[in-house]
Formats: sequence, C-alpha cells, structure tokens
Amino acid sequence: MIPLNEQNLQELKETCEDLGLKKFRAKQLFHYFHKEGGQDLSQMTTLAKNQRQELLALDLPKVDIEQVFPSKIDKTKKFLFHLKDGHLVEGVLMDNDYGLSQCISSQVGCRMGCSFCASTKEGRIRNLTPYEMLGQVYEVTKKYGRLHSIILMGSGEPLDNYDNVMRFLDLLHDENGYNLSYRNMTLSTCGVVPGIEKLAQENKPINLAISLHTPFQKDREKIMAVAKKYSLEDLFKAIDFYQEASKRRVSYEYTLIDGVNNREKDALELKKLLGGRLHHLNLIPLNPIQEYKENRPSKDHVRDFQRLCTDLGLNVTLRREQGGDIQASCGQLRRKYKEGSLV
Ligand code: SF4
Repeated sequence: MIPLNEQNLQELKETCEDLGLKKFRAKQLFHYFHKEGGQDLSQMTTLAKNQRQELLALDLPKVDIEQVFPSKIDKTKKFLFHLKDGHLVEGVLMDNDYGLSQCISSQVGCRMGCSFCASTKEGRIRNLTPYEMLGQVYEVTKKYGRLHSIILMGSGEPLDNYDNVMRFLDLLHDENGYNLSYRNMTLSTCGVVPGIEKLAQENKPINLAISLHTPFQKDREKIMAVAKKYSLEDLFKAIDFYQEASKRRVSYEYTLIDGVNNREKDALELKKLLGGRLHHLNLIPLNPIQEYKENRPSKDHVRDFQRLCTDLGLNVTLRREQGGDIQASCGQLRRKYKEGSLV
C-alpha cells in the first residue's frame, strides 16, 4: 500500500473504506498531512484514539530537520534533513524580494557524475519517496513560513526519480493541501532526454531548467557524464518538443569555470544554441569542491562574460550569490557534515 501521507485524496478515501473508516476521514487525514504538515498520527486529535491505533501501525516516511546552517552574510539558510533510515539530504532556503524559495533534494546522492558536484561522488544511494520531498517543504514551512516557490535542484537528478517527483509535485499542488501553483515549481535537470519528453506531455506548467554549463558537445562530455548518453543535439530536440508543448521559457544554468567555458567562443556558440529559442541564461560562478578544483573566475571575468552574452542579445542574468559561506553548492554540506569537518 502507498504510505498514507503519499496518497492523494481519492486514494485516501479508498484506503479509509478498506480500513473501515468513514470516507470523510480521508479529508481530515489529507489536511493533517499536507496542510498542517503533521507527521505523527498519535497527535492527530480529530481522530478517536481507537481509530488512530490502527493507523499508527502503518509505517510512514518522515523527515526531520537535523541541523540549520544560517548564513552570516545574508538571510540564506542551509539545512540537513534526516530521513527515517538515517540518510541525510540537504536543502537551501533563499529569502528573495518576492518571497521564500526552497531548493529541494530528490535523491540521496546522484548517479549523473557531473565533475563539479559533490552529490555524485558516492553515486546514487537511493531515490527519495514523495513524502521525503514534501517533508522538506513542510518542515521548513513550519519554522519559517510559507514558501513562494520550490526548485528541484538539490542533490539528485529529478528526472531519474520521475514517478516519485511527479507525485510529490502533484501532492504539493493539491488545493486541499499546500496548494502551490505549478508555475512556482522549477525542475532542474542535467539533460535526461526521455524525462524531458515525458514532462512535456504532462501538460503542467512546471518550469524547466537545464544544467547546460557549456555549448560544446566535447567539452560537455568532459564535465557532465550524462552528455555521453544524451548529446546536445538530442537534448535540444527534446527541449524544442517541450517548448512546443508548453509554450514556456526554459532556463539554462551555466556554472562559470575559468578558462573552460567563459571564453568568447563559448558566448558565440551559446548565441547559436539559445538565440532562436525562448530562453533565460543563468550564470553561476563555480564553487570549487575538494575533487574539482578548477578555477572560479574573478569578478571581472564573470562580468566580462555576462556583458559578452548581453551584447550578443542573450537574455542573461548572474545568479546572486547566496549563502556563500555555508557550503551552498549541492552536496558539499552533507559530505562535510558526514566527514565531521564542518566548523
Ligand atoms: S549537478 Fe545535479 S545531476 Fe549533476 S551530479 Fe550533481 S546532483 Fe547530479
């Protein structure tokens, strides 16, 4: 049976019937899990004790905040979440002008092998279940208030955990629960082509972000293992298919690595790739990790590259650096925490 806190309302109604509970209990349960962010049925006072007893025997996924790491330089907070089996995943809460935005993890570890990313160094350990993603949202909301938006850009490749991610987004969207618009959800992928094609057919206005990082196939293969499986050509065919279906702008994440992808020829090639497409190019200066010590470009180099792209007519922004003092890039915090080297 799907865990109770991962069932949609219809499924919960059927479960309640099977358990000999009145159908209206389904709405109470859904409200408890997804509106109140409740995780402990023994505390659900709208249910009589004898009814709770039966439900308490069911095993439910759970998420707790293990530790919060507030930035000293801005309002960004980083989290380690503790899962029932002892695994840790991380998340980031950013305080933007328009509201709170949270970066969510979709897997413990990742098997995509991007060379600049700490999350992938031990491979994919396991997928997160829908509730293990919801719980990240609910626990942070209880502490800091309602989120404006979420971004699936923490550890893990969301399209490598497709069904659980879709169930997570649908439950988060449900008007009887958290009621977050699909338009306020962003799914970031390193370029899993079949997943993008599948997403295109969902007919949900979820924002798509592509981790591009270089416009050249050969260079991309060097820093992103996924590029060996799905070429840039196939990736852009899938993006076109997605844009045709959704009519939505696609964002491109571009980590700037000095001398690797911030040359003039990179900007010119980006123009060729993105110029004719509805796009938003997001530049992110590299956060070096232990195993990937390539250079972070200087502020001047970053600005030069941004100007180059702007002059070429690209729609480009520089990601405001948030929480730079708290191991803000994906996977770094969890690794350091486990190594005991966090100060
Ligand atoms: S950047 Fe994303 S897709 Fe690539 S290895 Fe890290 S978590 Fe996986």
